[in-house]
Amino acid sequence: MKIIGLETVQVEEFSNIVWVRLHTDEGLVGLGETFRNPLAVIAYLHETCAPYLLGKNPIDRTAISRALRDEVGNNFKGFPTRSVEIRGNSAVDIALWDLCGKAAGQPIHTLLGGRSREKIRMYNTCANSEYNNKVRAGYNQQIFSRDEPPPARIGRHEDLLLQVYEPARLAQELLDEGISAMKIWPFDVFARRNGGMHITPQQIREGLWPIEQIRNAVGDRMEIMIEYHGLWKAPPAIEIANALSDYGITWHEDPIALDNFSDLAEFRRQSGARVAASENLGTTQWFREAFTRGIVDVATFDVTWTGGLSEAQRVTHLADTFDRPIAPHDCTGPVTLLANLHLLAHAPNGLIAETVRSHLDGFYRTAMTDIPKVENGYIAPLAGPGLGAEFDPEFLKRSDILRRVSGVCATQ
Ligand SMILES: [Mg+2]
Repeated sequence: MKIIGLETVQVEEFSNIVWVRLHTDEGLVGLGETFRNPLAVIAYLHETCAPYLLGKNPIDRTAISRALRDEVGNNFKGFPTRSVEIRGNSAVDIALWDLCGKAAGQPIHTLLGGRSREKIRMYNTCANSEYNNKVRAGYNQQIFSRDEPPPARIGRHEDLLLQVYEPARLAQELLDEGISAMKIWPFDVFARRNGGMHITPQQIREGLWPIEQIRNAVGDRMEIMIEYHGLWKAPPAIEIANALSDYGITWHEDPIALDNFSDLAEFRRQSGARVAASENLGTTQWFREAFTRGIVDVATFDVTWTGGLSEAQRVTHLADTFDRPIAPHDCTGPVTLLANLHLLAHAPNGLIAETVRSHLDGFYRTAMTDIPKVENGYIAPLAGPGLGAEFDPEFLKRSDILRRVSGVCATQ
């Protein structure tokens, strides 16, 4: 089997996501995905990756992915974590796994080494349907504040608004769906005001409000994860974590930017908080450093930013060696979730699946032929070969689709 074509797919509505399809001379097509700075990723894939990939046998996925990392993209030393090159390589790597699974007639979790569990507990990241999947100028996310009056009506699954204005309703809705863990970011709004350098007592009290609302409404039946998005410097981050210490927070995610491991160690030492990190760490080398320093309690890498499933598997093994669980990031696109579920079903140290219900019940299902069902807060990987799903044929007929091919695109 040979790779004969590399195709990139992008749709205007979800312009932040880049899909990669690798076409083979046997008619099999492998699907991968990455996101952010899409045009740069697409240029890298066609200009640099495609000439190397065409003619290669996708079964040799480990050697191909290693060459993309160390030679073709020349990014092992020069362009580390989250670079355009690593993200392009990640999409290719996932497509290689999909192809290998299809060639073997086996799902990816079987290729990884089989199941450690039948189903995976999930948590809800309280974003909205447009979160992360559209290119926006400047800061990528919408920020809502209770300083502004709430909209007249907050619609179904508008969790970005609900976490700000009606957190108790949100927690109860999730529990009614069987989901007993949620992630919110009530302090981001204050970090954006002063570069994350300082937080006032009043702002801390305001940030605690949704957590108090949730605890008052549903008690400890709901686990709460706090996302800091790496927006804070260490001193205010420590103040926030200490203020949260009585609320039984499950984890504190990216409390500071992940370019300062010394301060992260200090955060952990002074707060005693459990640290989740990070989709902002790419490649095993960064996790080796983080685990060696003892500063990461839960590894939350993104398979489409860290180097694909191959690199995610190495990080997973490394985490396991350090007796730490994994909870891979998904707040982006459907292939990320499908790949995560294969890894989480396989990994002995798989903890919990990140999901966004407005994505899971929304564009994930319209883009793909299949997305796993959610049952009482649990989800399982698809059983079909490779990822277990393809693009829905109707999705590929969208009027806003942008496709580019290097080599030959043998099938539709
Ligand atoms: Mg995060």
